[in-house]
Formats: sequence, C-alpha cells, structure tokens
Amino acid sequence: MTVERQPRILLVDDEPGSIELLAGIFGDEYEILFATEGEKAVGLALTEEPDVILLDVMMPGIDGYEVCRRLKAEERTADIPVIFITACGDLEAESRGLESGAMDYIHKPFTSSVVKVRTSNQIELKRAREALTRLSITDGLTQLANRRRFDEVIRREHARLARSDGQLSLLMLDLDHFKGYNDTYGHLQGDDCLRRVAAVISGVIRRPADLAARYGGEEFVCILPETTHEGAVRIAEKIRRNVEELAIPHGNSGVTDHVTVSLGVITARCTAEMGVSAIIAQADEQLYAAKAGGRNRVSAGQSPA
Ligand code: GH3
Ligand code: MG
Ligand code: MG
Repeated sequence: MTVERQPRILLVDDEPGSIELLAGIFGDEYEILFATEGEKAVGLALTEEPDVILLDVMMPGIDGYEVCRRLKAEERTADIPVIFITACGDLEAESRGLESGAMDYIHKPFTSSVVKVRTSNQIELKRAREALTRLSITDGLTQLANRRRFDEVIRREHARLARSDGQLSLLMLDLDHFKGYNDTYGHLQGDDCLRRVAAVISGVIRRPADLAARYGGEEFVCILPETTHEGAVRIAEKIRRNVEELAIPHGNSGVTDHVTVSLGVITARCTAEMGVSAIIAQADEQLYAAKAGGRNRVSAGQSPA
C-alpha cells in the first residue's frame, strides 16, 4: 500500500504579505512551500514536485507568464497545474495566462473559500490524470508494465542509445508447458502462477533504467539499457533459478515436476540496421533456442556477434 503524502502547494508572490494571506487559507492538511521570485519558483518546482502552483503574474525579474512557460517547457514540471492569482483584472491578461499553460485564473481580491476549492479541484484532477496514466501502462493481472509501455520504452531507449553508440540487452521469458498447467490446475491458478513469476522478475530487475513488462499471455520481457552481455545473462539465470525455487508444482510439465521458464537474451549495439524489431526478433530466436534445447534454460547471443 502506498501512503499518500499531504498535497503540496507552491505559493509564488513577490509580496510576503500575499503569501502569508494565501498560506492562511490552507489549513494543516496541506504542505506549503513558497517563493518570492520566479527563478526560485522554477527551481523549487523541479526539486519539490508540488501538486499545484499558485502563481502571481506581476513580479520583478521573470514574471508569472515566463515562470509558467518555463514550467511547461520542462518535462518534469509540465504536468504540475498552475493557477494564476493576480490583480490584473482584464480579460486579455486572463487569456494570456491560460495560453501560457495555466489551468485556472483567480482575480485579486479573492475569496478564501473559492481559492481553496479551485486549488483542491486541480489537485484532484492531477491525481485522476496520474491514475489514468498508470492504468494505461500497467498490466492488470501482474501489475508489471504492459505491452504498450514496453513498445514505448524500447523505442525511446533505442533512439537514445543509438545517439551514444550504446548497447541494450533484451530478455524474453516464456513459461514452459503452461498450457498443460492451465489444463491441470485451471485458469485461476494459472493466473496466480503468472503473478508469482512476475513478482520474481520485478524482484530481480531493480535498476531504475530497466523495465520489466508482460509481453502477452505467458511471455515477459525485460529491457536492460547499457547492460553488458555477461550482466544480462546473469540476470536471466537468476530469474530462471528464482522461478525454479518457487517450487510451484506442475504435474503436466514434461520438463520437471514444478513450474519452469525459458529465457532468450540478446545484447545489441543500437544502430539503424539493428533496429527495435530486429532486436526483438533476435531475442525471440534465442528464446526459441532455449525451448528447443530442452526448456528451463537461458540461451543468449550478441549482435554483432
Ligand atoms: P511452451 O513450453 O512451448 O511455451 O509451451 P506452452 O504450453 O507454455 O505454450 P503455448 O503457447 O502452447 O501455451 C501458452 C498457454 O498460456 C496457453 C494459454 O492458455 C496460457 N495463457 C496465456 N495467457 C494466460 C493468462 O492470462 N492466464 C492464464 N491462466 N493462462 C494464460
Ligand atoms: Mg509457454
Ligand atoms: Mg508462449
């Protein structure tokens, strides 16, 4: 279970009096940060990741519009909702504020209850957006990344590594004789088995840059950027062994009396010729070789060999 932290609000105004007034609106169910100038606000947004920013327009140095533009231009702060709070009452100023990427616009003098509700609305909307994003990239059964996420990450990592002449290891895993498992123990227990194998994979794949995903059915993939061939083979072997150590009985396996997996590993230099689909095809070939070699094993190759 994740513990939800208090919503964090960043107040930005060049007048300390205004900040105090605003801070007074939000009781202790919020964590309040503040900045009295634009540059500092942009810095705090990056390091503290507030859930919403209440931003004054007229400030010495960079003004609110520019702060908002900078926040929206930076990937890490682009999704933080910004609410302008300003004495500029004219419509032109309001539309300029919204055009610069703000979600809402509140005029001074403001009513406390309105500021509070509009702020909490933005926080709720942000959380709902984040929940939707999480759902859209997560496999419902195993809670690993889903196929969509895998496709996105491998394309991004390939492009990044192609620029730096880097290499990427890709690991493909398939449960052995899993059809027989379902036939013997039923689909629900099959699902449970997939969840346990997924937990083993995420227990082994721990580097932040790595990604473990469900590729489909009873197949899983791991993207290991900038990982040597030896490193990737070690990881694959560890997953194979840890699944074996789960000792999930499988009376219909033909390999052993418990659930096992086969893995294919490819380590490739990312180039135009060695594109994403070529790398996936080669990992698949290695997986096929592991199956043909008797299952419950790792087969690995490198490109260029
Ligand atoms: P091999 O060792 O050659 O991989 O044999 P296999 O039986 O594992 O391979 P096959 O592709 O013939 O069968 C895959 C099985 O995986 C069939 C399908 O019922 C099962 N499967 C796929 N997705 C799910 C799922 O979400 N839940 C469950 N319980 N089973 C699934
Ligand atoms: Mg299988
Ligand atoms: Mg399969």
